[in-house]
Amino acid sequence: MSAVSQEPKFPSQTEIVVIGGGIVGVCTALFLAEQGVPVVLCEKGRIAGEQSSRNWGWIRKAGRDARELQLMIESAKLWREIDTKLDEDIGYGIRGITYVARTEQELQKHESWLRDVENFDHGSVLLSAQETDRLLQRNDRQFLGALHTASDASAEPSKAVPAMARHAVDVGATILEKCAVRSVERTAGQISSVITEKGEIACKKVVLAGGAWSRTFLENIGIFIPQLAVKSSVLRTAAAPEVVAGAVGATDASLRRRQDGGYTIARSNHAEFQVIPAAFRHFSTFLPTLWDSWRMMKIRVGKEFFGPMGHQRWKPDQITPFEMVRVMDPKPDPKLLNSALASAIELHPRLQGLQIVETWGGLIDVMPDEVPIIDEPVNWPGLIIATGLSGHGFGIGPGVAKLVVQYIRGQAPIVDTKTFAMGRF
Ligand SMILES: Cc1cc2nc3c(=O)[nH]c(=O)nc-3n(C[C@H](O)[C@H](O)[C@H](O)COP(=O)(O)OP(=O)(O)OC[C@H]3O[C@@H](n4cnc5c(N)ncnc54)[C@H](O)[C@@H]3O)c2cc1C
Repeated sequence: MSAVSQEPKFPSQTEIVVIGGGIVGVCTALFLAEQGVPVVLCEKGRIAGEQSSRNWGWIRKAGRDARELQLMIESAKLWREIDTKLDEDIGYGIRGITYVARTEQELQKHESWLRDVENFDHGSVLLSAQETDRLLQRNDRQFLGALHTASDASAEPSKAVPAMARHAVDVGATILEKCAVRSVERTAGQISSVITEKGEIACKKVVLAGGAWSRTFLENIGIFIPQLAVKSSVLRTAAAPEVVAGAVGATDASLRRRQDGGYTIARSNHAEFQVIPAAFRHFSTFLPTLWDSWRMMKIRVGKEFFGPMGHQRWKPDQITPFEMVRVMDPKPDPKLLNSALASAIELHPRLQGLQIVETWGGLIDVMPDEVPIIDEPVNWPGLIIATGLSGHGFGIGPGVAKLVVQYIRGQAPIVDTKTFAMGRF
């Protein structure tokens, strides 16, 4: 079903083309349209068909890398503002997020994070074992403590970005679904148009917010970014007693209370890396991340190696990987999810008997330092890349989009953009 009610007339020109209808692309189109800038968003499949509807729904400052924390603080404000502008209920609420610590090592990690970010206004505190028990409604001192952020929020991913897209259309953006962008054209070194599967759109600037597809798109025009992707599996349950209003993260299971009274649950310390040719190119850049997270990483060498995210090149008049895969829908791992469900029940014994209603997979785009790229390549003036949100972009997406719009419009940025430069790799 289309997120934006009716198919608009195909536009032959605009000011800005946004590639990708995830949270970054949609918020970029929304903020531009609010400022009266003509904008066309092209989405190869459906709005928020990929990561932006498949995520856990956490909007968190807790545990963020210090380099992106200020942007997340700004993004949290944007979430509140956007929610008040929408006519639809997207399940947004400030309900708190808690990371429990079962071991000394986990507790020390939280303490060390609090020391690293002491100059930021994040609102996170360390709870004692007793306070953690009270929060989780248990009394057996299973946990040594927890990192608790009462001001962190959550929203329903299946509702939020489609509602934002509808609002963007209401304020003047054009949104085209099932419209893959194949290439970006230049005239005299400046961006002049994009070639889509439905025709050409003349424009002055392009924002690439293609999520896990951004690297593939860029390689075809000779730009190389160290972006890879990992698969994650998620489940949702039938309605059950409320054991927590917001979300709880533990090593074996993370859960969020849903608007429908069920829970979204996943295993926190697990991701599957599907080897593709780009992995060899970027292996050394990713080595420190792999070294840190090898325990939680399952490496899979399979048919994905030759798949659409593998080594592909095309011309603007040829079918691209984006048309071959309208919506990336990876198979979830049932064994992993059954085990995550058991861990969630162990975390909250009142959830005994919890029933799975749906499972799904999602492909998460990751950068070697798990911080996004928001930048304009030197040789490509007018092409702004906003990608690599590394598994926590639902929360920071509006902030990233705001920064992109400020950059395009020459406005003072909410945070220093140097942190997000491509040149850091
Ligand atoms: C299982 C899972 C759990 C997560 N949990 C959380 C969480 O709790 N909190 C959090 O903050 N983040 C979470 N994330 C991460 C978050 O969902 C992403 O970081 C964020 O949604 C990325 O947004 P995006 O707009 O960059 O990309 P996407 O949402 O992936 O959107 C990119 C879009 O671009 C389109 N596209 C690509 N190439 C083209 C092209 N050439 N032409 C047209 N369209 C194109 C794609 O079809 C896609 O719809 C999770 C992700 C997953 C998968």
